[in-house]
Amino acid sequence: MLKRILVTGGAGFLGSHLCERLVEMGHDVICLDNFFTSQKANVMHLLDRHNFELIRHDITLPIWLEVDEIYNLACPAAPGHYQYNPIKTMKTSLMGAINVLGMAKRCRAKVLQASTSEVYGDPEVHPQPESYRGAVNPIGLRACYDEGKRAAETLFMDYHRMNGVPVRIVRIFNTYGPRMHPYDGRVVSNFIRQALAGEEITIYGDGSQTRSFCYRDDMVEGMIRMMHVGEDFTGPVNLGNPEEFTIRELAELVLELTGSRSRLVFKPLPPDDPTRRRPDIALARTKLHWQPTMPLREGLERTIAWFRSIDMSHYRPPTPRY
Ligand code: NAD
Ligand code: UDP
Repeated sequence: MLKRILVTGGAGFLGSHLCERLVEMGHDVICLDNFFTSQKANVMHLLDRHNFELIRHDITLPIWLEVDEIYNLACPAAPGHYQYNPIKTMKTSLMGAINVLGMAKRCRAKVLQASTSEVYGDPEVHPQPESYRGAVNPIGLRACYDEGKRAAETLFMDYHRMNGVPVRIVRIFNTYGPRMHPYDGRVVSNFIRQALAGEEITIYGDGSQTRSFCYRDDMVEGMIRMMHVGEDFTGPVNLGNPEEFTIRELAELVLELTGSRSRLVFKPLPPDDPTRRRPDIALARTKLHWQPTMPLREGLERTIAWFRSIDMSHYRPPTPRY
């Protein structure tokens, strides 16, 4: 059945791909974004579609819309972006959650929260299952994001228990692909941009910390499946690629695939940087019949091709006075 679907943060990296998929499926899609970490260019190609609408709005402020489903993605996601104005980041998670949950309650809409593996902090349990409660430093530099997302999960479950709002929570692990902001400072975008420009590849720490990288199409598929799973399953459910790589391995793979002769340089590790991260996706396999299909090598090749194709001057860091 065709639905009216709101995607907050819909002009961002993941949001724009999600909007694209939902528009292709024929749904009536409203993309809401304040363009803090994204560009209109990400959704420009959708603007002439009859079933796509773009609203510039800040989700910390209420908005009155009539919808059947909401994907709540509005929130800066890269450490450099969310630490730019940490108070605003926390407001976006909390007030954004309250605003979309209020809308869902009024419209009797289903609402999916884009949560994060950061709720596990620097995990003592490996790989991380959903039952693990995490090790987050509540006063550290990452807390504005981690604790904001944790509190948003709390709000989602309380609206569900208290008001019967149908909620879905996905915990997204590192996801990459075309349309990542080239200056977002995330590891994949940094390494590819640096390799293509022949600049030094900046490894933080000794590069032995690990991450698991999921290609954006796999992630979007997982999110859509979660929205449509049976009523009794709210999640949280981990979505991510269970293949684990050290950051050094990632750097070497990027060098190989770009054919770059950039040098690896080692910089200080940022505080509270998680040492190991890999999702346990048993729950997603069982409940959603979902698992990633894109190997890192092929996903990186596609991402590198996109980075080669873009004009960097069209991208800017987060707006000042945000
Ligand atoms: P992104 O920065 O590209 O997208 C976020 C979007 O939200 C941007 O378009 C931004 O302008 C918008 N936004 C930020 N604050 C807003 C506000 N107050 N009001 C309206 N719009 C606002 O990042 P992304 O990687 O596409 O992440 C999307 C969502 O997925 C985020 O909620 C993020 O926390 C979550 N997530 C992503 C990853 C990942 O690896 N990509 C991992 C874990 C969680
Ligand atoms: N990282 C790095 N060099 C960079 C950017 C990031 O070594 O230029 C490291 C970072 O310290 C972390 C990992 O890569 O250990 C992933 O960082 P990212 O910012 O992509 O996301 P995170 O998973 O930390 O939120």
